[in-house]
Amino acid sequence: MTTTTRFAPSPTGRLHVGNIRTALHNWMLAKQSGGRFLLRIDDTDAERSREEYVEAIRADLAWLGLEPDGEERQSLRLAHYEAAFEALKAAGRVYPAYETAQELELRRKVLLGRGLPPIYDRGALKLTDAERATKEAEGILPHWRFLLDHAEPIAWEDGIRGPQKFDAAQLSDPVIRRADGSWLYMLPSAVDDIEMGITHVLRGEDHVSNTAVQVQMFTALHAAGFAAASDAASPHPAFAHEALLMGKEGKLSKRLGSLGCDAFREKGIEPEALIALLARLGTSLAVEPIADRAALIESFDLATFGRAPARFDDAELERINKAIIHQLDFVEVKDRLPAGMDEAGWHAIRPNLATVAEAGEWWRLVTGPIDRIEFGAEDRAYMAEAARTLEWSDDPWHTLTAALKEKTGRKGKPLFLPLRQALTGMDHGPDMAELLPLIGEAEARARLERAAHS
Ligand code: GLU
Repeated sequence: MTTTTRFAPSPTGRLHVGNIRTALHNWMLAKQSGGRFLLRIDDTDAERSREEYVEAIRADLAWLGLEPDGEERQSLRLAHYEAAFEALKAAGRVYPAYETAQELELRRKVLLGRGLPPIYDRGALKLTDAERATKEAEGILPHWRFLLDHAEPIAWEDGIRGPQKFDAAQLSDPVIRRADGSWLYMLPSAVDDIEMGITHVLRGEDHVSNTAVQVQMFTALHAAGFAAASDAASPHPAFAHEALLMGKEGKLSKRLGSLGCDAFREKGIEPEALIALLARLGTSLAVEPIADRAALIESFDLATFGRAPARFDDAELERINKAIIHQLDFVEVKDRLPAGMDEAGWHAIRPNLATVAEAGEWWRLVTGPIDRIEFGAEDRAYMAEAARTLEWSDDPWHTLTAALKEKTGRKGKPLFLPLRQALTGMDHGPDMAELLPLIGEAEARARLERAAHS
C-alpha cells in the first residue's frame, strides 16, 4: 500500500515554524517510501478562512521545496461530509443538541468549580420528542454531537507516543456540526483521511484527544461502509503525535507562533537550513547542516522522536544556515548574486557568508571601489615593491607572496596583512589566493600603487 500522508492547515493565517515542521515530517514520511504527500486545505470555517492564506501556504511550501503530490479542499467536499453525517445519523451515532454556548460554559464552570472534569452531561440525549419539538417550534435549531460509545475501549499504537488508551466516558461527545449546518474539524477530517487514502496521520500532540474521538468515528464510519486505507485490519490510519515546539526559553512562545517563511527569508535563512534543523529537532538524531534531502529522508524515523518538547533556537538555525551556505553550489544561488559574479567569485566568497545576500558586500572587494587605508612609510615602500614584483600567473597570490618573502625578509602577518589591506581595503575577508585572480592584474597593480602613494 502506498504511504499517503497529508498536511492539513486551516487557511486562517500564515504557516509558522510549528506547521512547517509538521509539513516537513509528513513530506519525509511519504517520500521515504516513495509515497504521496497531500496538501489538504481545511477551510470549512468560511468566516475565518481566506484565499490569500491558501495562496501563501502554497507559496511557502514551494519555497521550502515541499511540493505536494495533490491538493484537496474541504470546502469543495461538503457533500461527502453530508453523506457521512447521514450514515452516522442512521447508525444512531449523531444526535441533536440545543444548549447555547452560554449554558454550556456555565455548566463547564460549575463542574470545574467542583473539581470535576468538564465532560458534557449528554443533557440533549435526555430530551423527549415533545421537548425537542418545542425547541424547534421556538426556532431553536440544533447543533450536532457525535455519540461516543462508552463501552468501546479507545486504543491505538502511536508511532511516537507508543500505546495509547482512552476511556470514552472521560471524553465529551464532540460537536461535529453547527446549527447553521457548517462543519467543525472532527468529522470532515476523518472522512477525508478515509476517502483520500491517508495511511499515516502525523500531527502535533495537541491533537491527541481529537484522535481519541476520531478512533471511534473511524470505526463507526467503517461500520457504515467508509473504509480507511491503512490496512484491512484497521479502520483508521496509523497515528503519530509529535511533541510541540518550544522557544529556547522553554515556553511555548508567541513569537514562534508568528515566525514564518517570510521572516526566515528576510533574515537570509535558506530553506535547506530550516529543513535540516526541523527534520531532526526533537529527535535523538544529531542536528547537522545536511543540505542533501535524500540523506535527511533516509535517516527519518519516528522511533527517534522524543516525548519532550523540541526546543527551537535561532542561534542554532543561524549556525546551520551558515554551514549550509558554505556548501551551496553556484547554480543554486546564481540568480541571487550580484551582477558579474561568476562561479569562481562564488567559491572565493562563499566561506565568508552568513547569508547569501552578503555576497554583494564581498563582491565589492573585486569590483571596487575599496576603502582606502593609510599606510606608514615602511609599508608604502613595501607596496611599491609589491607592485613591481606582481607577476601574473595561474596563482598570482602565492607567486607574489613567495617573491616578496624572498626580497623583503617579511613573513607572517607583516608579509600578508598590508597586501590584503592594499588589495581589498579590509583586514580580513575571502582567501586572497582565490580573490586576487578575480580582481585581475591591472586593477591589482593599480591598488598596490595607490597604497604605495597613500
Ligand atoms: N486543520 C487542522 C489543524 O490545522 C488539521 C489537524 C490534522 O492534522 O488533522 O490543526
